[in-house]
Amino acid sequence: MSTDTPGSQSSLHRANLERVLRAVRMAGSLTQAEIARGTGLSAATVSNIVRELKESGTVVVADTSSGGRRARSVSLSGDAGIVVGVDFGHTHLRVAVGNLAHRVLAEESEPLDVDVSAQQGFDRAERMVERLLGQAGFPADKVIGVGLGVPGPIDVETGALGSTAILPGWTGVMPGQELSGRLGMPVHVDNDANLGALGELVWGAGRGLGDLAYIKVASGVGSGLVINNQIYRGPGGTAGEIGHIVLDEAGPVCRCGNRGCLETFVGSRYLLNLLNANHPGDLSLSKVVQLAQQGDLGCRRVIADAGRQIGMGVATLCNLLNPRRVILGGDLAEAGDLVLSPIRDSVARYAIPSAARQLSVVPGTLGGRAEVLGALALVMSEMGESGVL
Ligand SMILES: [Zn+2]
Repeated sequence: MSTDTPGSQSSLHRANLERVLRAVRMAGSLTQAEIARGTGLSAATVSNIVRELKESGTVVVADTSSGGRRARSVSLSGDAGIVVGVDFGHTHLRVAVGNLAHRVLAEESEPLDVDVSAQQGFDRAERMVERLLGQAGFPADKVIGVGLGVPGPIDVETGALGSTAILPGWTGVMPGQELSGRLGMPVHVDNDANLGALGELVWGAGRGLGDLAYIKVASGVGSGLVINNQIYRGPGGTAGEIGHIVLDEAGPVCRCGNRGCLETFVGSRYLLNLLNANHPGDLSLSKVVQLAQQGDLGCRRVIADAGRQIGMGVATLCNLLNPRRVILGGDLAEAGDLVLSPIRDSVARYAIPSAARQLSVVPGTLGGRAEVLGALALVMSEMGESGVL
């Protein structure tokens, strides 16, 4: 912690240094000109700070070209620190170990039973983190922080997991405290939709954009909102609950207690129920997508209708936030244009034209890895300069 007087020359310098570090951390690698543009600092200030960071071994500088001109690219040094991502999903546990230069050094996913207790889940996460750190060849004391994704809302005041239909036995558990106690490392927790948004922002379909929404359609429907390069969570941590926009006030009762929420029309349970008669037996959302791609008319219809309804939610989102890009994640995204075209049609029909003019609706590029990579990005976004220097 700096003890400098706020406003003094040296505290200003440290603040500038942190701005440069944060910009490089989130982008992976930037030219000095890009750092100056992104931070608003002068080229001379950026150049001085980069020299200082290079001398301390925090960043590496390499010659590159930008728009045909020679430039110098700045990235964080690979051994400046290690970050860990842990993602608990509906049916999987995924762990990744990466460095601050955005390289994923080890990654693994294993199936997770929905009925697993929180204790068993954290036991397995602890063993996987230890194993992957060993594979990557780094001791635990090199780890700057752990990002942890959970499929449900986190109470910002208590850190407890709110009620979730997705991991039923976990309500009231303090996931951050639980994992941090086991690993002896700082843990940052967020819900899966916010992490998917961060993952796509830093590593995937949202690279280079500062304003986007990531919509995850799985058992639940949620969104992560990036506004001006930051995840917007709201004071209670509940922002982005797009699944509970009401489409029909006389519709089915939702798990939130309301009726006719978007989630009751496009959540996987509802979609699979629609196909019960046509496809008896075990059906999953990814199987429905596969059948639709093979031409199954019922599956195509169910996906198209879901797209239209998601599009109504996206239209509302556009009118409120005017994002530049909406990225669709979750199993339904694998349907490509079968789901994206109806979303775009609904947006064209229901959003104010000026709110949708610059919008693109695209599938995520990270698939099932979006959340765990977002967990790595969460550590990079939350750590202060003390984490590096
Ligand atoms: Zn609801």
